[in-house]
Amino acid sequence: MPSPFVLVNSGSLRTMRPLTVAGITAGAVAAGISAAAAYGSVGKSSQLFGPSVYRGPGRRKSVALTFDDGPSEQTQDLLDYLASENVTATFFQCGMNVRRLPHIAGKVAACGHQIGNHTYSHPKLPFKSREFIDFEFSEAQRIISFETGVTPMILRAPYGFRWVGMREVQRKLALLDVMWTVIGYDWRWPADRISHHVVSHASPGGIICLHDGRAVERNPDIRETIRAVRQIVPALTDRGYSFETINDLMRV
Ligand SMILES: [Zn+2]
Repeated sequence: MPSPFVLVNSGSLRTMRPLTVAGITAGAVAAGISAAAAYGSVGKSSQLFGPSVYRGPGRRKSVALTFDDGPSEQTQDLLDYLASENVTATFFQCGMNVRRLPHIAGKVAACGHQIGNHTYSHPKLPFKSREFIDFEFSEAQRIISFETGVTPMILRAPYGFRWVGMREVQRKLALLDVMWTVIGYDWRWPADRISHHVVSHASPGGIICLHDGRAVERNPDIRETIRAVRQIVPALTDRGYSFETINDLMRV
């Protein structure tokens, strides 16, 4: 099936190609990730470890709200608000959370939101083996598909950290990596600051990253996120924006 996605900034693949992980010296590994590999891992436009997008083409005045680390015990409150405003969003779910709260994961899909793969256990992927990375995405894909009836077409690496082995698993599972245009720091900021930051950085085709969970914590407190979303949706609507899933946002 042809991909409905438009790859943005694929030119960076050419510039990043010489910076393979094999080229990192032992010293650089000991000292942490080298600047080049760090960019390849976390740089939002990097294609080093697999096909990736961080915004849509932007020909319509629309944005995508995305929520990572769910489902959680409070996701239902977010679903209720989004339904009341007729907003569809995208949820990057962790397999462990889906296994713990399968009925909530299923409701997210039943409400018309897009579901993406956010690994099984939310680990930091840099320096992990190919087998480990394959397991994290394959297991999440299996659990999400089984519990929600939806097979994800997109993934997001925890913390945005990509690594060697992602390209192969993306190909195997037909997953496109989706980073973000603006992140709300909603795990540490109060609602007003989150919403001000997101609204002031919104642009057509923008991908907004928020969280309806906290890694694989049980019962995380996401009230500030929900308060912020209740400010972001009306503020962006007033400015003429509509809200699309990632699939729709990427269509030209
Ligand atoms: Zn996450």
